[in-house]
Amino acid sequence: MTTVVVIPGDGVGPEVTDQAVHVLATLGLGLDLDVLDQVNADRFLRTGVAMTDDEMERARSAGAVLFGAVGDPKVPDPSYARDVLLRLRFELDLYVNHRPAALLADRLSPLRDPALRALDCVVVRENTEGAYAGVGGVLREHTPYELALDGDISTAYGVTRVLEYAFAIARRSVCLVDKANAVPFGGGLWQRRWSEVSAAHPDVGTSHLYVDAAAMRLIQNPTAFDVIVTNNSYGDILSDVTAALAGGPGTAASANLNPRHGVGLFEPVHGSAPDIAGTGRANPVGSVLSAALLLDHLGHGAEADALRAAVRATVAAGTCTPDLGGESSTKEVGAAITAEVG
Ligand code: ATP
Ligand code: MG
Repeated sequence: MTTVVVIPGDGVGPEVTDQAVHVLATLGLGLDLDVLDQVNADRFLRTGVAMTDDEMERARSAGAVLFGAVGDPKVPDPSYARDVLLRLRFELDLYVNHRPAALLADRLSPLRDPALRALDCVVVRENTEGAYAGVGGVLREHTPYELALDGDISTAYGVTRVLEYAFAIARRSVCLVDKANAVPFGGGLWQRRWSEVSAAHPDVGTSHLYVDAAAMRLIQNPTAFDVIVTNNSYGDILSDVTAALAGGPGTAASANLNPRHGVGLFEPVHGSAPDIAGTGRANPVGSVLSAALLLDHLGHGAEADALRAAVRATVAAGTCTPDLGGESSTKEVGAAITAEVG
């Protein structure tokens, strides 16, 4: 039996994850769900523990992790979120953050021109290096002469493996996004690895954009993109752009993967949304679509497709949370999706 570790987390995390768990249970795939609902900000405030080594080991030995969100205004300490999500990403060496975006329903596109709306792309975000590597420090803190440094790390090893993933999943083309004209050292390394990896895939179309131009082109001509590959920071930002083009922040799903080993971590792109937590307004679609990616990962592709179809049917029928213009609650949307797949 495959074990799925579930970490609902904080804020809207438990609310949306609950719906994804219900839908997964309805599919009757015999998944063994190991819910770690003690991993949250309240425990961190009480005990100072973000995640125990035992919890880490349970995630490591699972087939997959379904993750909600961590972060709470009561915990301003950034080490908390780092010690949960970034620890999982780094210790499991989940170097690919795979963020697909496809327009959910025509009426949800923010674009005026109908011909431009049919977005269907994947942002492949490098997930273990870049400015998220935690290298740096602060000097002369709390003085007018304070100096802060965050190292932006790129290694040939890390860049090559994420570029290879991007080419492996490309249907038509891969677009490299960087800022090599202004950030030359890391940019140069990415471009050298890009030349080598792209040469090994002559059947895949290639293009290159600086990140500012990429943000603009995504709005002006989103249908031109298939796979976008980029570093940790630019991937975070561009996948919010693609989420907005696909339906909104509540709808975007992601997979954190290491294609060289088993376990993957699946989570909505959004965070804990403390502004709407506890109101029943959180959109569960990002979490449910993350569960679909989890099913793909576990080899249940047909069920994953059925889940995506159920989400589309539910949104098309107008059963939506307020962010998508509807009046339904988190639970009502979850129940409607469950009814569609059931
Ligand atoms: P992170 O640092 O984890 O990426 P964030 O700072 O980007 O988090 P979010 O928690 O994602 O912030 O919230 C951004 C905005 O999107 C908020 O206004 C929030 O209410 C909205 N939002 C996030 N998730 C959802 C959701 N599931 N349904 C509806 N709105 C959401
Ligand atoms: Mg965010």
